[in-house]
Amino acid sequence: MESKKGKIIVIVAPSGAGKSTLIERLKKDFPGLSESISCTTRPVRNGETNGVEYNFITKEEFEKRIDENDFIEWALVHGNYYGTSKSFVESGLSTGVSLLFDLDVQGCDSFKNHYGSEAVVIFIEPPSIEELEKRLLSRGTESTATIKLRIENAKNELGRKSDFDYAVLNDDLEKAYCELKEIVQSITER
Ligand code: ADP
Ligand code: 5GP
Repeated sequence: MESKKGKIIVIVAPSGAGKSTLIERLKKDFPGLSESISCTTRPVRNGETNGVEYNFITKEEFEKRIDENDFIEWALVHGNYYGTSKSFVESGLSTGVSLLFDLDVQGCDSFKNHYGSEAVVIFIEPPSIEELEKRLLSRGTESTATIKLRIENAKNELGRKSDFDYAVLNDDLEKAYCELKEIVQSITER
C-alpha cells in the first residue's frame, strides 16, 4: 500500500486572534504533527524560551542567513524579521510527516507560490478589531506602540480572509477549536 504523503498546514491570523492558543491545543491532539520553529529578530517575551517558541537571533545573523539562502520564506512582520528554515521543511517532507506552520499573510503567499495546493491555509478570524485589541492588551506582552502597529496591520490582514482555503471564527474558543480540529483531521486523513 502507498504511504500517505505529509501535509503542509499553515495557520494565519492577525496578531491576537488566538492562533498560538489554538495551535497549542492542536499539538496535544495531533502528536504526529510537527510544528516549524521559525527564526525571528523580535524581542523574547516573558515566558518564552529560545528554541521553543522561536529561535531568537540578531538582525545581523538573520540577514546573514538570508544571504546564505537558509530560509524557504522570510518576511518583515510588525517591524521584525521572521523566517522559516529550509532544512526543517525539506527534512520533514522527505520523511512524510505533516508539518504545521504559523505564518503571516506574506509567508502564506510565499508558501502558496511554492507549494500550490499542497499547502493548506487556515485563517483564524477574530470577532472584531475591538476584541482583538482587548486580547492583545490582556495578553500584556507588547508595548502600546506595538499593539497599535499590530492592530493597523490586522485591518489589512482581515481583508485577505477569503483568499485562503478555510476560515475559522475564534469568538467562542471551544467552538473555534472544535471547528479547527475537524479541518485538521480532514486534511491529515487525505
Ligand atoms: P496570537 O497567537 O494569534 O497572537 P494568542 O493565542 O496569543 O494570539 O491569543 C491572544 C490572547 O487572547 C491570549 O491572552 C489568549 O488567551 C486570548 N484568547 C485566545 N482565544 C480567545 C477567545 N476565543 N476568547 C477570549 N480570549 C481568547
Ligand atoms: P508574534 O511576534 O506574535 O509571535 O508573531 C507575529 C507574526 O509573525 C504572526 O502573524 C506570525 O504568524 C508571524 N510569523 C511567525 N513566524 C513566521 C515565519 O517564519 N514567517 C512569516 N512570514 N511569518 C511568521
